[in-house]
Amino acid sequence: MIKITVWNEFIHEKKHQKCMELYPNGIHSAIADFLNCEDDFTVRTATLDDEECGLTEEVLADTDVLIWWGHAGHKLVPDEIAQRVVRHVHNGMGFIPLHSSHASKPFTMLMGTVGNLSWRESGDFERLWVISKAHPITKDLPDYIELPHEETYAEPFGIPTPDEILFIGWFSGGEVLRSGLTYKRNNGKIFYFQPGHETFPTYYNKDIQKVIINAVRWAAPEIRTEKIEFPRIPVTNQF
Ligand code: ZN
Repeated sequence: MIKITVWNEFIHEKKHQKCMELYPNGIHSAIADFLNCEDDFTVRTATLDDEECGLTEEVLADTDVLIWWGHAGHKLVPDEIAQRVVRHVHNGMGFIPLHSSHASKPFTMLMGTVGNLSWRESGDFERLWVISKAHPITKDLPDYIELPHEETYAEPFGIPTPDEILFIGWFSGGEVLRSGLTYKRNNGKIFYFQPGHETFPTYYNKDIQKVIINAVRWAAPEIRTEKIEFPRIPVTNQF
């Protein structure tokens, strides 16, 4: 079984009418619902309101893949919690930051950059091109995914050069973004995925769900350590 924790700040869905209607139990619950349909997944959720943001040592040690949705509350996540997430990623926990989590504390700490990008909130149409077919995350996807409305996110995107670019998002205003990106940090695998603005029903799209399901299987740890160790190499003098 792959143990998943879906973390959401859960702010917009308690305040804004449109978000409440779309995601009455929060984005985290909508994501957990489709993940729970997979026989090999066990899913829990956590939010900013939970004690220690719901991300205690025990929860993270028992999490294979952490999915993260944050936007208005990035600064409300204590540094200590973000650093705890980063440490678990280095040790092998998979990490999938979604949409505006490009500016979340754990993602920017893992990237070493501020993760800034250009944006416009006008409900543009997005065509999300699959640009790498031979990858577990793009398995069984069509050539592209069409989203009637998304927040426009655009280059330049202030991130380190990714290990792999799997998706490029094109918006009807003409902008493009590297929208699906992989990284490794020590033992941990990271997949950033752009779609998912809170006022659009993006997480009900079956192909978007498939990407996240595929990404969970890809990001599940190959190995998991207590900490990253670099042992001293004994002197052998054999040459
Ligand atoms: Zn957004």
